[in-house]
Amino acid sequence: MDEFGEIARLFRPLARGAAGAFDLLDDAAVVPQRPGFDLVITKDAIVEGVHFPVGEASDLVARKLARVNLSDLAAKGAEPFAAFLAVAWPPRLSDRERERFAMGLAADLEAFNVDLLGGDTVATPGPFTCTMTALGWVPAGKMVRRAGARPGDRLLVSGTIGDSTLGLAAVRGEIDDAEGHLAYRYRVPNPRLDLREALRAHATAAADVSDGLVADARHIAEASKVRLVIDLDRLPLSGAAATWLEGQGDPALALLRLATGGDDYEVVCTMGPDAPKPPGFTVIGEVQAGEGIEVHAAGRSLDPGAGGWRHG
Ligand code: ADP
Ligand code: MG
Repeated sequence: MDEFGEIARLFRPLARGAAGAFDLLDDAAVVPQRPGFDLVITKDAIVEGVHFPVGEASDLVARKLARVNLSDLAAKGAEPFAAFLAVAWPPRLSDRERERFAMGLAADLEAFNVDLLGGDTVATPGPFTCTMTALGWVPAGKMVRRAGARPGDRLLVSGTIGDSTLGLAAVRGEIDDAEGHLAYRYRVPNPRLDLREALRAHATAAADVSDGLVADARHIAEASKVRLVIDLDRLPLSGAAATWLEGQGDPALALLRLATGGDDYEVVCTMGPDAPKPPGFTVIGEVQAGEGIEVHAAGRSLDPGAGGWRHG
């Protein structure tokens, strides 16, 4: 199939007739302004063998791509409405696998009410690589920044933490995952778009948890110029992660593994001391004057050192 036939067949349906997409037949798209709102834009790329396992089913690749991008918009309190896509197909990807990619993407963009407004399609001798640019709206001036945490605020995280890093270990056959819950969370993360109103109403700062809870909390500390104290004994865990934790010899180190693993796609945020704790969030620490991160677990203080972790 030629390139234009492929774009038309695979991707035009995902434009869903959106006004500025021109059925993916023009050089560029148009996003009409929405009075009273700011346009929030984010972009993430994922690479085979780095961000997803070599040979991963391509519908899952597409869904992960969409979801990691939508997670950034979720953390900012934005409502997604449009996306741009670039794919670099490796030779191994058959027509059938490309179709599966488009079908997986179609399912998620429909579920999250996002129109595909354009993109690019190329071939590569390298690994399967795809990138998305996702667009969302927030009421003018209301994007939740990483900067904005103040001493006295509480530190919170949504959902449960650590499933995804255990899920990667499960995919590699390193740990038991009888129910498949952990692997599913790694393969198909859930962007927390449902938290939008709560974040806009109460969060002083927020970031999505992609690099790991501790690393992403550190991003907030740096941007906000504050010190964050995290108590890992309060870390919200799924049943599967709690079961794994029970089998670990050193609970403090095990909690640290969950809090540094990444790919959770939850939201870490700070809220003022008087804000009500919205449903779905757990308080895991506090904001102090100063800088950096302090981590406690199982009665010990775990200090992040330059080359890793110092244990005291
Ligand atoms: P140009 O060569 O003018 O940059 P292309 O021929 O690459 O344009 O693309 C033609 C149209 O198809 C454009 O509207 C472009 O946005 C769209 N398009 C190409 N690839 C994709 C893709 N992977 N997803 C969505 N739209 C795409
Ligand atoms: Mg052109």
